[in-house]
Amino acid sequence: MREKIVVVGGGYAGLGALGVLHNLPDRDLVLIDPSMGHELIPELPEALRQHDVIESHIVPFERLLANLDVAHVQQAVSNLAVDEQQVILADGRRIGYDWLVLAPGSVPAYPPIPGFQAISRPLRNAQDTRTIKDALRYGRDQRVVVVGGGLTGVEVAGTLADDHDVWLVEAASRLLPALGVGLAAYAAQQLSQAGVRLMFRQKLVEVTPDRLLLERDHLAYDVLIWAGGIAPPRWLRQTPLPLDAKGYPITDPYGAILPRVYAAGDIWRVSVDGEDIPQTAQVASLAGAYVGEVITRRIAGETQIPPFRPKIRGMLISLDPGKGVGWVLTGGIPLRGYGARTLKNLSFHQYRQKLARVFAMAGRYRRFWSRS
Ligand SMILES: Cc1cc2nc3c(=O)[nH]c(=O)nc-3n(C[C@H](O)[C@H](O)[C@H](O)COP(=O)(O)OP(=O)(O)OC[C@H]3O[C@@H](n4cnc5c(N)ncnc54)[C@H](O)[C@@H]3O)c2cc1C
Repeated sequence: MREKIVVVGGGYAGLGALGVLHNLPDRDLVLIDPSMGHELIPELPEALRQHDVIESHIVPFERLLANLDVAHVQQAVSNLAVDEQQVILADGRRIGYDWLVLAPGSVPAYPPIPGFQAISRPLRNAQDTRTIKDALRYGRDQRVVVVGGGLTGVEVAGTLADDHDVWLVEAASRLLPALGVGLAAYAAQQLSQAGVRLMFRQKLVEVTPDRLLLERDHLAYDVLIWAGGIAPPRWLRQTPLPLDAKGYPITDPYGAILPRVYAAGDIWRVSVDGEDIPQTAQVASLAGAYVGEVITRRIAGETQIPPFRPKIRGMLISLDPGKGVGWVLTGGIPLRGYGARTLKNLSFHQYRQKLARVFAMAGRYRRFWSRS
């Protein structure tokens, strides 16, 4: 029987799933994504540099899918009719499915401070990057305040330090909760040396269009960047899917929300041996490929499938100029300095190469992999 598989979201997880599912012999594959291309999100902090070109971090779906017989519907999904096995698009159209992979990524989780969402600028996708770049006046005296000292906040602050008066505000007593104390202290030291002013143990109280009120201080700004937490897309709450208190779909250990509906990427809260796995591009890509494999095997009638246990190869964070921090290999070999930064660049390059291989991109597309 011919199976129709719909993938919602062409990010790391969606492409991970498509990379496996396109091998099915008898299938119709549809990717639904409002963007024109796959956005290489971990590269976007770099795209904030004045002369960096945002489009060089986007791979057009048209080219990516050219050799795979996958239809791209450039629309957002806004709801699901699970009894009819249909996704409902923002323009009201419906698309039926036999199997559905939901991989729409995440959205910023804002603090409950009146006006904050309207005034601050998040960095979650290429459009956000454009909005921030439009607000930046390079080489001029402009104060940028970054709120949030996790991976995104640290990378953004490091990138902008050369050209701006950058302040990083963090509610906890240190940066990078995903790393050990020593590595986080190294990151703080490098950012300080690059000119970033760090403010720890400072909770947000209030925001005005040019001033941030903190617990014990206030801070004027020209551009306010929000690099706090993430949340699942809010439209999931409209659907009949079972969700947890934070709005994440409740899945079984194989990513299934319902028998023919799967989650992958940031919206799949994976835990292994009781430990939550951080939501990263690396895990999203593995989860997408895993879910693609599960659907392939279920179509073949297999029932014995091992649960998802991602092997995380490392976590690296850029600290400009030209340095990085993190760890590599399961077990965690700590790395800092130029070596960490070089390996991070290498991981970006390897991901582009993997896409080219998996999606059978011919040599004529090579220019899309070379970064300007
Ligand atoms: C600034 C920044 C830096 C990061 N750096 C790193 C890093 O160095 N290493 C790392 O491993 N991780 C990093 N991450 C995390 C990583 O980017 C995410 O975990 C990863 O992108 C999640 O993959 P995903 O496929 O779930 O979602 P995404 O990659 O975000 O893709 C979601 C896709 O779904 C589409 N979509 C959204 N809504 C809808 C809808 N309603 N209907 C249809 N399609 C929809 C979007 O257009 C998008 O193409 C970073 C994140 C940020 C924001």
